[in-house]
Amino acid sequence: MRENRKKEIRIKADAFREKCKVSRYGIIDLFKECERLGYKLLRYPLGEEADLGFSLQRDNDIVIFTNTCSRLSREIFTLAHEIGHVILHMESKFSFVDDAVTISGRDTSEKEQEANYFAACLLMPADDVDKFLDLELEDFERNRLTAMDIARIMSEFNVSFDMALNRLENLGKIDNNEKIWLDNERNEKRVGNLLRSVGGNARLNAASMDIDIPYEYIDYVIYNYNHNAIPYETLEKVLGCYQLTVEDIRDRLVEQIERDDDLDDLIGGLDD
Ligand SMILES: [Zn+2]
Repeated sequence: MRENRKKEIRIKADAFREKCKVSRYGIIDLFKECERLGYKLLRYPLGEEADLGFSLQRDNDIVIFTNTCSRLSREIFTLAHEIGHVILHMESKFSFVDDAVTISGRDTSEKEQEANYFAACLLMPADDVDKFLDLELEDFERNRLTAMDIARIMSEFNVSFDMALNRLENLGKIDNNEKIWLDNERNEKRVGNLLRSVGGNARLNAASMDIDIPYEYIDYVIYNYNHNAIPYETLEKVLGCYQLTVEDIRDRLVEQIERDDDLDDLIGGLDD
């Protein structure tokens, strides 16, 4: 990525972050920010092997999906990556689907790299990382970082252990040897334990499995069912997400079978 493109992305990430509610260092709830900004956000436990997220433009709506089977810290990164696609790329392409390859940075295509860079700048801006290292740590330059410090960074910025390490390395705060050493320490002590030992947010390390679907999606589903685009089972399943049954929305369904019966009666009536 060229330096001037990086700068453009930093400016856009910064502008987005300015609209968000931020605690000392991290965006408090990026999911809520999306809803506040008018994006249609869908969160659903799609399965561990399924895609991690997607973003698409539909008429005037921006729709973003994240899979709640991934650890919350990872889901937040996926969301930030999708926001990156929305802000940087939606003018040229209408939809993006992301999996472990595109999100981890192993996909070298320009748009995926840019979305990851946007996500890193949005969640952990360089200035705030500097501020954390300066104010929260005892002489960072001399003592260097421990895995417990990384757990504190996770909690403050709402990011995963891996993301914190990658970002710190990219910002030149740790070198590759330190990164490997911190990674080993993490494997020995486990992230959940580290988070607990610093009084951090242990929820970041678990999948939320949340279901969060905008209420208006019921309209889409009913419309699709009425136009024979989805089977009855799908209708039932989607309604189940809202704690509703088919009986609750019965008056909005076009009953194909009943209609046919009426037609038979009518034709029969004409024959008589
Ligand atoms: Zn992507």
